[in-house]
Amino acid sequence: MKKIIIAIDGYSSCGKSTIAKELATALNYHYVDTGAMYRAVTLFLLQNHIDIYHPEMVAMALGDIHISFEINPSTQRQITLLNGENVENEIRINSRVASAVSEVSSLSEVRKFLVKQQQVLGAHKGIVMDGRDIGTVVFPEAELKLFITAEPNIRAQRRLDELKTLGQTTTFEEVLANLKKRDEMDSNRADSPLLKAKDAIEIDNSYLSMDEQFLLIIDLVKKSKGQAQQI
Ligand code: C5P
Repeated sequence: MKKIIIAIDGYSSCGKSTIAKELATALNYHYVDTGAMYRAVTLFLLQNHIDIYHPEMVAMALGDIHISFEINPSTQRQITLLNGENVENEIRINSRVASAVSEVSSLSEVRKFLVKQQQVLGAHKGIVMDGRDIGTVVFPEAELKLFITAEPNIRAQRRLDELKTLGQTTTFEEVLANLKKRDEMDSNRADSPLLKAKDAIEIDNSYLSMDEQFLLIIDLVKKSKGQAQQI
């Protein structure tokens, strides 16, 4: 069966990575969480006291950043490595990363650096990639493009639940404010803003169960694979 590229974009905390991981497992595809890459770059800049408001300093630092992914053999979950070090939890629970990541990801130098790596990761297809610009910039030719949305309060509650499982104490209001701010910045930046690709299929999963969403999307995958087969 012909392998395709599945591009999943959408707002913060609307469950993109959960569905992307499920799809990748079901199809035996690779999964790439591009948000983790922007978060890892942000963590590196913070750790090394690099001023994120100075694009030239950030650009110089990029050469020292190597991001890779690995599967944790005991949990089978993907972990993000920054220069060989496991930063999977740190990039999710560090509130300084959450506050700075949208500023860092608005820098064209950072985007060029990561988009090139993402395109290499998907060069052989058989990939599910989630982010903000996958269907518009990284893989405009992807066979299936999904744009996932959900109501802000529902997204904030899901994120709060996720942070709790990671041992992080924060409030609903704080989480909601952070995701609204990120959505606003991600949608209004000059370079590769978050927007729905013309040919993307929009799915509002506010009131869908995980199973309902999965069945809906797997059906779209089958149709796209069928079409790809005929080309
Ligand atoms: O997906 P996640 O919420 O972890 O992404 C963190 C941040 O990384 C986003 O708010 C956005 O600023 C940035 N990002 C991006 N482009 C992507 C993926 C993430 O700008 N493809």
